Amino acid sequence: MIDRRVLVAVRKVKPDAALRQKDRTDAENVFVRGYKLSASVGRTAGVFRKNAGRMPAHPAKPEVFQLPRMRIFMRLFRIFSTSAVLVLTVLAFSSCAQSLSSSASPVSGERAMEHVLAQVALGPRPPGSPELERCREYIAAQMKSFGYVIEEDVFIADTPYGPIEMKNLIARRSNVKEGKGVIALATHYDTKLMHGINFVGANDAGSSTGLLIELGRVLADDVSGPYDYWFLFFDGEEAFIEWSAFDGTYGSRHLARKWKEDGTASKIRALILLDMIGDKDLDIMYDTNSTKVLMDLVFETAKKEGLESILSRYVGQIEDDHIPFLDIGVPSVDIIDLNYGPGNSWWHTAEDTIDKISVESLEKTGRLVLALLSRLQKESILDHIKSAR
Ligand SMILES: [Zn+2]
Repeated sequence: MIDRRVLVAVRKVKPDAALRQKDRTDAENVFVRGYKLSASVGRTAGVFRKNAGRMPAHPAKPEVFQLPRMRIFMRLFRIFSTSAVLVLTVLAFSSCAQSLSSSASPVSGERAMEHVLAQVALGPRPPGSPELERCREYIAAQMKSFGYVIEEDVFIADTPYGPIEMKNLIARRSNVKEGKGVIALATHYDTKLMHGINFVGANDAGSSTGLLIELGRVLADDVSGPYDYWFLFFDGEEAFIEWSAFDGTYGSRHLARKWKEDGTASKIRALILLDMIGDKDLDIMYDTNSTKVLMDLVFETAKKEGLESILSRYVGQIEDDHIPFLDIGVPSVDIIDLNYGPGNSWWHTAEDTIDKISVESLEKTGRLVLALLSRLQKESILDHIKSAR
């Protein structure tokens, strides 16, 4: 079993049809998305891979989703079946679906999409660029308009291209008394430096940044629960050359280290990370690096909220901005879709454009996060998490 795992892992794998089919038939199979792995570089060796999949640490329970999109369609079909003009109903399908969900949800996919459009309009936004500075100004201005106080966490990152100044943004609410601690909501906001490619990162990281701003609006005055909310926008998540312990997650590594040293980390009771959540064909995977209690809660909550259609049945091991926080003992979960386009072919390419993401996916992820937060605030789950893993 281990040998086969290694065999699959060393390939530079994209989840082609064959691999995916294989996964469907073998719950213990390896699942790897778009990343080059080697058997000798694992987390135990302290080497960060951006993200990768392998046999889950917990018993795999592959769930066969019953064509959720078809189920939704059938429900809508029933709703509209009294209409005499079936053709119009079908044509109106997508807009109806969107307005139905909008009216029921405090989080607006349209608003989140506006924030994505604003970022994409800036063009590529790698660390240290004037475009990323403008992006940062945009995020800060939006969050300030909702009443947040913004802190810039400035540091010099040691990158393969030499020292580069980076800035994490931390948005805190000013209307909250010291309660049981903090739930941090996080994303990265830089885009990957890609030479010769106009990489605008609509999904990576425009989508999660746009949604986090929108969640900032929704949660600005929500002081009903015992936990405060902080919003973290990380710089420098992307690797400049090749993902490793030293290239990538610059912002989260810096902030986790700093907060560990100054004691702030002890206030953070959970970190919820969003990344690549705008894909029209959204499928959020089960990450075995995330704190199990939280990852289970994400999946359970999605099902409870009727959002099964955005869940992937794939189990994988994701390396992202949550890892440095897990490493300092903060329970953390990564909500991420790493199956972007056919065979993940839009990921880190010029194809990562606004037409590939949807208002609906942004809104559904937003609804999931809000439902998750509501449970964390009410059910004292965070009191019982024994360790970050
Ligand atoms: Zn990326």
